[in-house]
Amino acid sequence: MKGNSKNTKLRNIYDSVMLPNYSPADFIPERALGSRLWDKDNKEYIDFGGGIAVNSLGHSHPVLIEALNKQSKKIWHISNYLTNEPAIELAKKLTDLTFAENIYFSNSGSEANEAAIKIARKYHSSRNDPRDEIVSFTNSFHGRSLLNISLGNSQMHRDGFEPLMAGIKQGEFNDISGLKNLITEKVAAVIVEPVQGEAGVISATSEFLEEIRELTSKKGVLLIVDEVQSGVGRMGSIYGYMNYGIDPDIVTSAKGLGGGIPIGATLTKRSIGEVMQPGSHGSTFGGNPIACAVANEVINIISDKSFLKKVNEKEELFLDLLSEMKDKGIFSDIRSSGLWIGCDLVDRNSNEVLNQAYAEGLILVSAGSSCLRLAPALNIHEEDIKEGVGRLKKVLLGN
Ligand code: PLP
Repeated sequence: MKGNSKNTKLRNIYDSVMLPNYSPADFIPERALGSRLWDKDNKEYIDFGGGIAVNSLGHSHPVLIEALNKQSKKIWHISNYLTNEPAIELAKKLTDLTFAENIYFSNSGSEANEAAIKIARKYHSSRNDPRDEIVSFTNSFHGRSLLNISLGNSQMHRDGFEPLMAGIKQGEFNDISGLKNLITEKVAAVIVEPVQGEAGVISATSEFLEEIRELTSKKGVLLIVDEVQSGVGRMGSIYGYMNYGIDPDIVTSAKGLGGGIPIGATLTKRSIGEVMQPGSHGSTFGGNPIACAVANEVINIISDKSFLKKVNEKEELFLDLLSEMKDKGIFSDIRSSGLWIGCDLVDRNSNEVLNQAYAEGLILVSAGSSCLRLAPALNIHEEDIKEGVGRLKKVLLGN
């Protein structure tokens, strides 16, 4: 890459020192506020990507900054030989607000899922009924660890990394007819996303999740709902499972929970969680006081009913503004669930559109090669939505 800008100089160093597993944009973000971001050359962007559904309250939220600053002056890290007040408070909050009675903290979505699968296996083996099968679904995404690429079914994610974890069976997402043969007494757990984000914001049907719940209950199989991307207000509810009226056995959470500070959580019922006795599992950083102090404030804000109502209102505004591009044949389909929107492009490559959008001052993420994914801050201002969609129109319609 040639040029003298501050962005370019840094980006050239990136190319020489980083593992080439990502291909980030040519600019380097320097600072950000709310849903606006500025790069090293002071160019401004509107952020519709939200750090892939992570910056639930936008950038530099004053309440989160205060929580982080306050906690940073008290205590940073103590390990799990000791516990800490922010972690206890956060676990109490999550149990008060959800089906769960026991919480395990980690640092990411992949780790939250790892814990969920371990809990499920331990649960059955503790009852002298060891079960080695796990059921996941086509087009699912659960993370990039070896376990999680085994659960997901992207060949691109798996290439070169086999052998995968044994015992995983895959069903067709949203296909009820296949479930009976899949969910048997040999299965330890079924893991499912209520909405598949990486696949392009594809919602599970109510019938599908209800049938899974019924069959898993009948066969003594645990139901794990992966809410790493869908949780913490993204779908206009505290967790997405609440929109379906089902009662999971385990929920995994991460991304938006920390509002940008790494944290993962595995939520479960006491009757299941109690099998994880001391020594059974752990994480050096899990339950870190700084991450938990910030997540406490995220949960305080997003669990407010009026906040969640606004998420749904802003979804409507997005859909209204984006519909012109569907009417004009730019998008073949637009799907949404709260502030989480997938737009299928006609005859365009999503990564090319991402680069064109950067040039117009707009940050988007993709879902595959032909879908644009929007997962903005849940508190994004109306003006940012209007101006950002305006910039997108400029990219896609040229006006
Ligand atoms: N599960 C889902 C549904 C996700 O969307 C993701 C990440 O995109 C993960 C798990 C993995 O989370 P992490 O990247 O924090 O390990």
